[in-house]
Amino acid sequence: MTARTPYARSVQRHMRYPIPGGPTLRAKGWRQEGLLRLLENVLSVGEDPDNLVVYAALGKAARNWAAHQAIVSALTTMEEDETLLIQSGKPIGLIRTHAKAPLVIMANCNIVGQWAKAEVFYDLQEKGLICWGGLTAGAWQYIGSQGVIQGTYEIFMRIAERHFGGDLRGRFILTAGLGGMGGAQPLAGRMANAAILAVDVDPERARKRKEIGYVDEIAPDLDTALAMIDRAVKAREPASIALVGNAADIYPEIERRGIVPDIVTDQTAAHDLVYGYVPAGFTLDEVRGLRKADPSRLMAESRASIVRHVRAMLGFQKKGAVVFDNGNLIRTHARDGGVENAFDIPIFTEAYLRPLFCRAIGPFRWMALSGDPDDIRKIDDLVLERFPDNHIVTNWIGLARENVPFEGLPARIAWLGHNQRTEVARAANAMVARGDLSGPVAFSRDHLDSGAMAHPNIMTERMKDGSDAIADWPLIDAMMLCSSMADLVVVHSGGGGYAGYMTSAGVTLVADGTPAADERLAHALTNDTALGVMRYADAGYEDALDEAQTKGIRHIQL
Ligand code: NAD
Repeated sequence: MTARTPYARSVQRHMRYPIPGGPTLRAKGWRQEGLLRLLENVLSVGEDPDNLVVYAALGKAARNWAAHQAIVSALTTMEEDETLLIQSGKPIGLIRTHAKAPLVIMANCNIVGQWAKAEVFYDLQEKGLICWGGLTAGAWQYIGSQGVIQGTYEIFMRIAERHFGGDLRGRFILTAGLGGMGGAQPLAGRMANAAILAVDVDPERARKRKEIGYVDEIAPDLDTALAMIDRAVKAREPASIALVGNAADIYPEIERRGIVPDIVTDQTAAHDLVYGYVPAGFTLDEVRGLRKADPSRLMAESRASIVRHVRAMLGFQKKGAVVFDNGNLIRTHARDGGVENAFDIPIFTEAYLRPLFCRAIGPFRWMALSGDPDDIRKIDDLVLERFPDNHIVTNWIGLARENVPFEGLPARIAWLGHNQRTEVARAANAMVARGDLSGPVAFSRDHLDSGAMAHPNIMTERMKDGSDAIADWPLIDAMMLCSSMADLVVVHSGGGGYAGYMTSAGVTLVADGTPAADERLAHALTNDTALGVMRYADAGYEDALDEAQTKGIRHIQL
C-alpha cells in the first residue's frame, strides 16, 4: 500500500471550479464570504459541476446557472443585516433583518404530501420550478466523500465489535457504488482493516476514487477481483478493490459461485430509479437516452434489477453474512418489485448508530475557509487535547490524519455530541481571533443527525414510539436554528426517488473570530444538539433520557 500524507495531498478535481481560499474578501464580511466559499467548494468537489450536480444522482448546489450567478451576486453585495431567501436553489429576494439573523434561509424541494412523488418531482424539475438539494449539496455543506466516511467507518467498527471480536482483519466486505458518498466505502473499509470490494458500473467513478487514494486497485474482471480479495483476506491485510460492473449482475454471480462475504451492503444511487440506479444490461449512454425518451421503462428496468440485487443480498444474509442497508432505499424499491422480505435487511441507523444519535453524537464537520490545511491540523490537535478520553474521536482523528486526503477546502468530520461541538467551535473561533489560524472556519453537520431528519426508511426507521414519519422535528430544528442566530438554515425534503420519503434541516455557521460569532456558535450548536437529545428522549430511549439528565438538557417529560 502507498504511504499517505494527507496534509500534503489535497486533491483538486475540477480545474474550472477552483478550490477557494486566501485572505481576500470579495463579500462585505467574512460571514457572507464564508458561505460563498462553501458554495464554490461544493462545486469544486462535486460529481458533475457543469450541471451543478454535487452528489446522490441529482443533488444540486443551485437550480440552474442563472440562479447560481444571482446567488453569488447576492452573497457578494449583501450587508450583514440582510437575509437572502432561497427556494429550491433559486434566490427569490433579500430582506432587511438584523445582524443576528441568519444570512441565508433556504427551503429545498418541499412538496405537499399527496403530491410528493418521484414523477411529480421530475415534472416540476423539467419545468424548472424545483431542484433537489440532496442533504448537503443544496445547502453548500458537502465536503467530498469525507463527509460520510466516518459514518461508514463507525458502522463497520460496530459490526466488527458485535460480530467479529472487534476486528475486521481477514474479513471480506462486498459493496457497490463509488459515487459522491458511496466512494467513501473502500477507504472506510480499508481503515477498518477489512478487504473490501466495491462494484460500480461507471469506470469514471472507479478511476476518480483511485485517483484520490480511496481505492487501492481497479480489478480488470471479477475473477481477478475475487483473487485479490482472497489474497488480502488470507494475509489478513487491508485492501480496497474496485470492480467495474453492474451490481445486479455481480452480486448474484458471486452468490452463484458459493462465495459468502462477511459483510454485504450497497450504496449505489438506488433511491432514484431514473437518474440514479443503472439497470443491468444497459450501457450508461442507453440509460442517459432513456431518461428523457422513456422514463417509465427505465423505472421498471431499474426496479427489476434491484430485485435481483436485493435477492442476492438476502441470499448472502441467509448464508451468514452480516447484511445492512446503507441508506439508499434499495429495500423499499425491492419490496415494491415483489421482494416481500426485503426489510429482513436492517437499516444501518437503527442497527448500529442509534445509541450515538440518542446522545446527539453525529457527523459534525468544519472547513478551513482560508484553504490552509494547517488550520485543520491545529483544530485536530485542539480536539485531541480537549477530548483525550473520547475513543471514537481520538481514534478517528488519528486515522483521518493518516488516511483521508483533503478534496476541496481542507475539512474534517468528527462525530461529536452535545456541548462537545460547541466547545470545539468556540475554541476555534478564539483561535481565529488570536490569529492562530490562517482564516475563519465554517462549522456544519450532516442532515442525517439526531433532531434534524425524519426519514422512516433510513433515519427514523422503527423508532421506539412509532414516530418514524413525523416531520415536526426537522421543522422545529430549522425554526429553532433561525432563532438561535445560525448563519445558514435550510429545510430539505426528498427529490427524485426520495420524494415523499424524508424531511431534514441543515445549519452552517462561520467562526470569524468575533464575539458575535462566539455568541452564534454557542446558541445554535448547543440548541441543535439539545433538540437531538430531546427527540430521542421524547421517543422513550433510555440513553437519551440519561443524556438529558446528565447534561442538564431541559427536556419536558410528560
Ligand atoms: P452518486 O449518484 O454520486 O453515485 C451513485 C453511484 O452508483 C454511481 O457511481 C453509479 O455509477 C453507481 N451505480 C448506479 N447503479 C449501479 C449498479 N446497478 N451497479 C453498480 N453501480 C451502480 O450517489 P452517492 O452520493 O454516492 O449516494 C449513493 C446513495 O447513498 C444514494 O442513494 C444516497 O442518497 C445514499 N446516501 C446515504 C448516506 C448515508 O448516510 N448512509 C449518505 C449519503 C447518501
